[in-house]
Amino acid sequence: MTVYTFPSGPIETNTYIYALPDKTCYIIDAAPMSYGAVKRKIDEMGLKPVMLLLTHSHWDHIADVPHYKDAFPDLPVAVHPLDAPNLKTPGADGLPVYFTYDPMGHDIELKEGKKIGPFDVIETPGHTPGGVVFYDPKEGVAFSGDTLFKGTFGNVSFPQSSRDLMWKSLKKLAKLPGQTKVFPGHGEPTTIEKEWWLSRPDDLVE
Ligand SMILES: [Zn+2]
Ligand SMILES: [Zn+2]
Repeated sequence: MTVYTFPSGPIETNTYIYALPDKTCYIIDAAPMSYGAVKRKIDEMGLKPVMLLLTHSHWDHIADVPHYKDAFPDLPVAVHPLDAPNLKTPGADGLPVYFTYDPMGHDIELKEGKKIGPFDVIETPGHTPGGVVFYDPKEGVAFSGDTLFKGTFGNVSFPQSSRDLMWKSLKKLAKLPGQTKVFPGHGEPTTIEKEWWLSRPDDLVE
């Protein structure tokens, strides 16, 4: 299993390729201007993308979805239904649409406990209502979107955010094995055990 990281767009959002030994791969998030570099890596390594997984639907994680769909017309796009409206209607999440993107559809709806290839879907609302973490229990790898970053957590001051739900989601992630390697939506990777504050995030700010 190999993780390739592509920080892209105006706020350096991470798009990831999660490549399995059989050369199939999952693309996690579709940051603005990520497509060119991701496609080059896919070609270079001879990878076969099987699904585009969205941790949530903020513009900086979805803007390039149409490019991936153009290049791989059969590539299913998976998102949690509570975050789906912002794909179809840019700005449905209440954020100003200062980075325009084309309306897009989705193919697969994510929910708690759903198995997607090597991943378990963990619902982690808070930053957005339909935020999810993709967790591979066999490899001990998690893609945390904007729920958990190295040293902190995602913004909970957006119109659709909920601080209470974020606290619950972080406490849920605290239960993953300590060595779990976490790849966030922005910035460097971390591990669950390095984020010692996860089980009591309220201590951090109150
Ligand atoms: Zn976000
Ligand atoms: Zn983000």
